[in-house]
Amino acid sequence: MIDYRSFLNREVQEIKPSGIRRFFDIASEMDNVISLSIGEPDFSTPYHVRQEGIRTLEQGKTWYSPNRGFMELREEICRWMGRRYGVEYSPKDDVLVTVGGSEALDMCIRSLVSPGDEVLIPEPSFVCYVPLTQMARGVPVVIETKAEDHFRLTAQALREKITPKTKLLILPYPNNPTGAVMRREDLEAIAQVVEEKNLLVLSDEIYGELTYGHQRHVCFASLPGMRERTIVVNGFSKMFAMTGWRLGFAVGPRELIGPMTKLHQYAIMSAPTTAQYAATEALRNGDGDIEYMREQYDMRRRLIVDGLNRIGLPCFEPEGAFYVFPSLAKTGMDSETFCERLLQEERVAVVPGSAFGDCGEGFVRISYCYSIKHITEALRRMERFVNRL
Ligand code: PMP
Repeated sequence: MIDYRSFLNREVQEIKPSGIRRFFDIASEMDNVISLSIGEPDFSTPYHVRQEGIRTLEQGKTWYSPNRGFMELREEICRWMGRRYGVEYSPKDDVLVTVGGSEALDMCIRSLVSPGDEVLIPEPSFVCYVPLTQMARGVPVVIETKAEDHFRLTAQALREKITPKTKLLILPYPNNPTGAVMRREDLEAIAQVVEEKNLLVLSDEIYGELTYGHQRHVCFASLPGMRERTIVVNGFSKMFAMTGWRLGFAVGPRELIGPMTKLHQYAIMSAPTTAQYAATEALRNGDGDIEYMREQYDMRRRLIVDGLNRIGLPCFEPEGAFYVFPSLAKTGMDSETFCERLLQEERVAVVPGSAFGDCGEGFVRISYCYSIKHITEALRRMERFVNRL
């Protein structure tokens, strides 16, 4: 018998599998389940974008791209960063096209973090920041954000966690799972601390195009002095409903993008070619698609927020991404039990808040990137469930 564990890397043994998929996987083996558990647009990629992928395949354009990504795409990314967020980057040196935002996060953390470096991670937040930091043998330091602050990171909470070993702050806004958005003044206060304490920032802005109401996303790198301290990660999955194409990017100071590119060169070579052609078309002619999808999500958002507040699962109004994060306080249940019972008794799948960090306990994440019909039926079932408690 081979003792495989003795062969495995220590960090790989220690990291936990993601809690997001668990209920989705159970649900997919049951009948008549409504799943509001996955953060994936229910739209197909816009037709003209798919067409561009098909066209280049038909032309036989199936080769590797340059390591950093096609120049044309990098130029479009830089134009877009300038046009949408007012930050200037050079296509030659300041951009890396990656396999989803996911790869960009990994490349950034691995390029910056040495063993023992502390990485600040506001929670609740997306599940990969802690394990990626652990894989780099860094030390994840969680900053709890609170419902009463609308899950925004405050400068005071940030200050309290900084030590001489702190190197990097991850800024996960608009936030998955809470839907929280940082306003300009919140970010300015954070920027002041970043400057004073000489930190770098990894700003995960994958939901930057999905903000609602009067909120328009403020790119952290657009604040005075922050472009030089920030790697911005973004991608095509959410804004153009392109999850399966696996394409994202990082922009930042060339002194940091260069080393990330070196790693990417060895680990990945280059991002998918067909996806890069399609994404170039999306950035050139896709503003209307983003607008259309955002309006649709906004309708669903209002429906679900009203519904949840009405049935006794109160939630603050999320201003970004496509998630709501209601409190279970009135049910007296922990989030795992709530999700298990809701699935077994009413066949609705949502994700326990605890999957996004210990401070997510007492909440659940509900995705609303599903049809109005789907959401309405899920709300009806949840109401029946809550009334029975
Ligand atoms: N960041 C956040 C906050 C996310 O929610 C996700 C996907 N759910 C990603 C990054 C990665 O997305 P992708 O790799 O598809 O670009």
